[in-house]
Amino acid sequence: MDFSITAELAADAKRVDSFVADEIIPLEADPAHYDAYGNIDMAVLQSLRAKVKAAGLWAPQIPKAQGGMGYGPTGMAVLYEAMNQSIFGPVAFNCAAPDDGNMYILNKVASQQQKARWLQPIIDGDVRSSFAMTEPAPGGGSDPGMIQTTATRKNGRWVINGRKWYITGAGEAGHFILIAKTGSDARNGLTAFLFHRDDPGWRIERRIGIMGPEEHGGHCELIFDGLTLDDDRMLMGEGQGLKVTQIRLGLARLTHCMRWLGLARRAVAIAADYAAIRQGFGIKLADRESIQIKLGQAAMDIEIGRVMVMRAAWRIEQGSKARQDISIAKIHVSQLLNRVTSDAIQICGARGYSKDTVLEWIYRYGRQALLVDGATEVHQMVINRFLQNQGQAFWGWGVGND
Ligand SMILES: Cc1cc2nc3c(=O)[nH]c(=O)nc-3n(C[C@H](O)[C@H](O)[C@H](O)COP(=O)(O)OP(=O)(O)OC[C@H]3O[C@@H](n4cnc5c(N)ncnc54)[C@H](O)[C@@H]3O)c2cc1C
Repeated sequence: MDFSITAELAADAKRVDSFVADEIIPLEADPAHYDAYGNIDMAVLQSLRAKVKAAGLWAPQIPKAQGGMGYGPTGMAVLYEAMNQSIFGPVAFNCAAPDDGNMYILNKVASQQQKARWLQPIIDGDVRSSFAMTEPAPGGGSDPGMIQTTATRKNGRWVINGRKWYITGAGEAGHFILIAKTGSDARNGLTAFLFHRDDPGWRIERRIGIMGPEEHGGHCELIFDGLTLDDDRMLMGEGQGLKVTQIRLGLARLTHCMRWLGLARRAVAIAADYAAIRQGFGIKLADRESIQIKLGQAAMDIEIGRVMVMRAAWRIEQGSKARQDISIAKIHVSQLLNRVTSDAIQICGARGYSKDTVLEWIYRYGRQALLVDGATEVHQMVINRFLQNQGQAFWGWGVGND
């Protein structure tokens, strides 16, 4: 067991820290740097992304040969947390959801031709992407077995009909991954397809308003009425859709945690700064035990989250799916993000509730963490399933290459 990081990774983390502090955090204060939905303005983002590329910090999660920095999950854990010290950070480095998860799954399972056409433009930052799985009731939400969007064989092609919603980024995306039903089998009845914004036979019905700031392209409801695709648009082949989903969501959940830890750290930093200067009833807030307990608890929660995330990342690098570790981390980190941000607002008083700091932005954004990529209760169900199936082995440490 070794929780130290390499000198190279430590140096890169320092470069990300400096870049975020010098180039990104200063942008947050000016309302002109935001788009209408509370995210970084597109033109501002483009110039920021050019600076990230020039600094050699672009896409750390992508292999060097494809234009990234070549880090695996443990390196990503360090760097993603560092970049989300700013609310604008991950998208500037091309590490934001859903592009991040889409790049991962395409790199893992797409053919060479598919990678050239569908993946490389996302890596290069020329195209944004979406992952379309969730459907309105009675379709598939928490339970993908309920997916009702169908892909039917007609004249040697796939014809797709149905409805998806809450599809992040759909309003800006050029490349889409779609999960549709191709059979009745619970495990092999779903297939993943690639489609392009310009393909006929689908449309955006509406952009759904949400309580938090929105990703570029929003969260949209999509209607498919005869989208027709050839076999070369299938990802991994017929019946492999659930597998695609599980591979994609496994790491995507963990990268969410990596970023959320960064946001939680930022919230603590803002609260600690205020507590250090604010006087009341004769002493500084920072000298009050009740405030020290809140900040100490927040630091402890974050540190527990970092250990969980790092263990899951390490296990993935050892070849494990780390499913129970990821579920545990996802629950803990999403909950701590909500708790810590709420406490940070409390410590800052009215200023915490205002738009003078990014606390209210993080607070509104953080609520979705308890829902996306598996609601808390679904991950509790998954953890319990492992507990029931494995018995005492659930508590095993794993020896050597176990
Ligand atoms: C901001 C945002 C972005 C999103 N982006 C995308 C995207 O890009 N692509 C995409 O496909 N989807 C996306 N989603 C959808 C998201 O993945 C789903 O909301 C999530 O999977 C839950 O599905 P559902 O909303 O249908 O909830 P439901 O399945 O209707 O569940 C409702 C609630 O029931 C409870 N529940 C469900 N199952 C269980 C259980 N087994 N035990 C106990 N309680 C349970 C949970 O509290 C859950 O919140 C996004 C959602 C949000 C809010």
